[in-house]
Amino acid sequence: MDTPRIDLHRHLEAAVDPNDLPPFIQKHKIDLPSDLERLRALLRFTARPGNLAAFLEPFKQHIHKFFITEASVREFTKLCIRRAALEGLSYLELRFSPFYMAGAYAGTQRLDPESVVSAVCEGRDEAGSEHPVRVGLILIVGRELDIQKGQRVIDLALRYRSKICGVDLAGNEHGFPPHLFRDVFARAREAGVPITIHAGETGSAENIRYSVEELGATRIGHGIAAIHDASVVSLLKEREIVLETCPISNWLTGAVKGDPSNHPLMKLHRAGVKVTVNTDDPLLQSSWLADDIRQAEALGATPQDIASFMITAETAAFTDVLSISNA
Ligand SMILES: [Zn+2]
Repeated sequence: MDTPRIDLHRHLEAAVDPNDLPPFIQKHKIDLPSDLERLRALLRFTARPGNLAAFLEPFKQHIHKFFITEASVREFTKLCIRRAALEGLSYLELRFSPFYMAGAYAGTQRLDPESVVSAVCEGRDEAGSEHPVRVGLILIVGRELDIQKGQRVIDLALRYRSKICGVDLAGNEHGFPPHLFRDVFARAREAGVPITIHAGETGSAENIRYSVEELGATRIGHGIAAIHDASVVSLLKEREIVLETCPISNWLTGAVKGDPSNHPLMKLHRAGVKVTVNTDDPLLQSSWLADDIRQAEALGATPQDIASFMITAETAAFTDVLSISNA
């Protein structure tokens, strides 16, 4: 049997191929250049941002403009899934922030967050009939928005439970530690909605511990700061928590200091932590899953290691991939 090719950590808002954008921009009359080179200059890093705030800057400036109507959200979702199918992915989890896509961060909320969720689900269902890749959807609670909006994301997760596979907490860990979101995730946990939390990316190992013990995360977005705390490594092993590392993104955000070879992927793997290799934001990084796999190989991963990361991803998927592929 072929090894599955899985990406568990990819943000929908930055999962489109830039080559697909010019006709999309023209069709939906989006306020961004439809000339590919001008567009690339806005959306692609030419130098390492080096910190998370700089990495997230294109989200602040430009990316929210794509989501102007429900039709644009639907089509954007389909373009992202088509791209994943071209990569040969067998399974993909796309995560997105309903409030971000609705325009809440830009101060000009154009859409209702619920209509964003329903349009993404429709786009996924339509693309699902055209492409072989299976796609799970994860709703993001944005750290920077108020707790009330976080609760509304959980309301949506519960309302769309049959369409989505999990919830996540994302954004800058600095200033927004996980304990602020305890009540928000308690509701998801009680309802049995799978939880992944961005923690220990550019924040501390302690954020990982709290996310596992108090928020109920069974997977951690990035989690590479675990390498600095042996007790957190033990906790991850004991509870079989899966880390969704993104080697290229982790270097671009400065989560990995200095040289890209300082990424702790293989140290964590050899210590017995369950790790996976994923992309994060391909549009901005100009890198796709094959590039992150190559990066993992540069860090010392053998073909057997890569296969074991993919099996880990398959087992940790929030959708039951095994029953889908056997169906
Ligand atoms: Zn992420």
